Amino acid sequence: MIYFDNASTTKIFKDVAEFMCDYSQENFYNPSGIYSKSIKVFNDLENCRNKLRGYLGADDYQVIFTASATEANNIALDSFVQKNKKVLIGGGEHSSIYETAQHLRQQGFDVVFLHLTTEGKIDIEDLKNKLDDTVGFVSIMHVNNETGAINDIANLTKIVKSKAKNAIFHCDGVQAFCKINTNLKHLGVDAYTVSSHKIHGPRGIGALIFRKGLPIKTFVFGGGQEQNIRSGTENVAGVMAFVMAMEKMQKNLKANFDHARTLKTRLLQNLTDTDFVLNGNEENDSPYIVSLSFKTKGEVLLHMLEEEEIFVSTGSSCNSKHKGNRVLTEMGKDKTSTDGNIRISFCEDNTEDEVDIFCKVLKEKLEKIKGLNIWKK
Ligand code: PLP
Repeated sequence: MIYFDNASTTKIFKDVAEFMCDYSQENFYNPSGIYSKSIKVFNDLENCRNKLRGYLGADDYQVIFTASATEANNIALDSFVQKNKKVLIGGGEHSSIYETAQHLRQQGFDVVFLHLTTEGKIDIEDLKNKLDDTVGFVSIMHVNNETGAINDIANLTKIVKSKAKNAIFHCDGVQAFCKINTNLKHLGVDAYTVSSHKIHGPRGIGALIFRKGLPIKTFVFGGGQEQNIRSGTENVAGVMAFVMAMEKMQKNLKANFDHARTLKTRLLQNLTDTDFVLNGNEENDSPYIVSLSFKTKGEVLLHMLEEEEIFVSTGSSCNSKHKGNRVLTEMGKDKTSTDGNIRISFCEDNTEDEVDIFCKVLKEKLEKIKGLNIWKK
């Protein structure tokens, strides 16, 4: 089996899964309790918050653990947008931002979407044109989950703050976290979202990290957990396992990145004699994600590869229920490219041999369908 869908989710590290299981057995106490066993669990949770803050260079930030990055993104938008201020949203955002922004627009918020360049990054001229001092909130992702395009967030926050000093800048960092170096102070962001299951941690854990003092709203009412923002007994074992996965990834960040680069370069070199379009920029984008388009339906290729136990996706899996491809369309790609898209996404466990097998099988499958009516001329 070859699993090339790591941007969608990753396999949990075995030792992390075992640790989570043991911790749940041995430290099942409620962190809100006032006896010593509960206090230990509470302290473990606080320690995780500090470790995440430390890793992200975010001393002056608050950390809220959530059930997913989707939830963290929802909390950010719900809290930080203001009725009388313009809201700017990147044109390539994940559906957890995009759909929330559409919902806000229906409620009467002044939501404006930013264009992407043909390479899938934020179009800086468009941002400058839309920026003025009425802008109160901006959300732009760090690494695009479909193409791997990396936005220069440090530059974007400077541009935004130069014209809209008090605007709150949120960044969805899900595909950047533990894959590229990330320091929130250097980036200049006010809030940042991460997810556990994209870095070999357990499902059901995300986090929103935001500057202390920002006007955050209660998202779930109840017992007042997570600093009264998100009530509900905390998933401490999950958070502990998430932070353990983070520490493992953090140790190998550079080696993993270089390995992913080797895989991406090899894949594109192996395919030089094949008719495809690379959606993005080989050198500048994240090496973990490769977005390719062929002259057939991406879905057809996906299932042909699946027959050989090779797993890729068509665009983002969170988008798989929607027709078309919003991100590629925003990049100006034609219908052939948006229909014919597959996404290959790596993790450090993937090998060069797997890349070679993938390319060989893909070429055989393409040969089979060329000339059939599912092949576009
Ligand atoms: N943001 C980006 C960029 C993503 O790639 C994803 C997942 O694909 C999410 C947010 C949502 O993450 P979660 O599955 O933790 O809700």
